[in-house]
Amino acid sequence: MKLEEEYGSSLFPTYAKYPIALVRGEGSRLWDEDGKEYLDFMSGLAVCNLGHAPGNVAARVAEQLGRLWHVSNLFRIPDQEKLAKLLTDHSCTDLVFFCNSGAEANEAAIKCARRYHQRVLGNGRFEIVTFEKSFHGRTIATLTATGQDKVKDGFYPLPEGFAYAKYNDLDDVEEKMTDRTAAVMLELVQGESGVRPADREFAVRLAELCERRGVLLIVDEVQTGMGRTGKLFAYEHYGIEPDIVTLAKGLAGGFPIGAMMGKSKLRDAFSAGSHASTFGGAPLAAAAGLATVETLLGERLPERAERMGAYALRELRKRLAACPAVRDVRGLGLLIGIECAGPAAPVIGKLHDRGLLVVPAGQDVIRFMPSLYVTEEEIDRAVGLVAGALSDG
Ligand SMILES: *Cc1c(COP(=O)(O)O)cnc(C)c1O
Repeated sequence: MKLEEEYGSSLFPTYAKYPIALVRGEGSRLWDEDGKEYLDFMSGLAVCNLGHAPGNVAARVAEQLGRLWHVSNLFRIPDQEKLAKLLTDHSCTDLVFFCNSGAEANEAAIKCARRYHQRVLGNGRFEIVTFEKSFHGRTIATLTATGQDKVKDGFYPLPEGFAYAKYNDLDDVEEKMTDRTAAVMLELVQGESGVRPADREFAVRLAELCERRGVLLIVDEVQTGMGRTGKLFAYEHYGIEPDIVTLAKGLAGGFPIGAMMGKSKLRDAFSAGSHASTFGGAPLAAAAGLATVETLLGERLPERAERMGAYALRELRKRLAACPAVRDVRGLGLLIGIECAGPAAPVIGKLHDRGLLVVPAGQDVIRFMPSLYVTEEEIDRAVGLVAGALSDG
């Protein structure tokens, strides 16, 4: 059977879909249409950080759903203002712009950085330095920012003004900076290309370099944010203060939302009418985001992620130490990568058959991203399944 027939001929074939249709979820568990149960260690790609269908978020969204769905951003939206206050109170930033996805958040960051230099400082700077193997999204600007050729294939011409430095290489960043550089855009753990954390020294010296050169530091926390790495935001691990932080995935527990947060000096980069989003931070998304962030903070879930992440890393290293099919186990909090000696896809297929849902990062890394409520028992089960699948190969 042709793939298109098997998985729905009315969809553009943009995804290599797994042959599983999930129809129900609860916490770390998912069920497919045949009633088969799965242990979920991917969380909808770092989206469902509170597990599936979290009751308190569901209740808030249901209440909002019965009252008011949508209001234009031309009017005040109280929950949106509360969510922005909560995010700025718990970060190094002061202002928030809401949108609907990670790509849009990064798009807003690129626009904010350019407009700050061009309209506030009046220096005309526009270049953005990003990193090789980075991932920042799929819009034309954010795929240009992305340091991987495969996402650009067939989409030329691309916008001007992007340069790519080697990750964890400060000298190379300095080399790629010019007197037109407006910002550096960085993931503190490169998620999509293989779960590669930034070196502490590199991140600290990069922040200093940006400060010295009058270049804005944009940290893309679309995947690493919302407690995933064991802090509310990954930049907290590094003791740096980005000028701009972008969020999406886990921000509303599974409801679509994105956000660009920035320091107060950036306020005048945007004036009324210079940027907008019809759905950004509308009442349903704002209610879901507010309930999610209140839960993350109220239940100290980032700390839990730090503890459980350390446990998972230790157990994985212990169980896989003698496994010749494993090259490395690394990560930050509950964003963990198991680098295999060969392609990850066959191992992942086997794990799906055995009831563990995981996804790859790049070609040869298995990614662990369970709910922040994950238990030691669930980690033990997942580690056992991975060790089994890697050793009976
Ligand atoms: C997923 C991701 C994006 C893109 O987010 P979308 O919501 O799919 O647009 C951007 N940056 C990083 C680091 C991501 O992991």
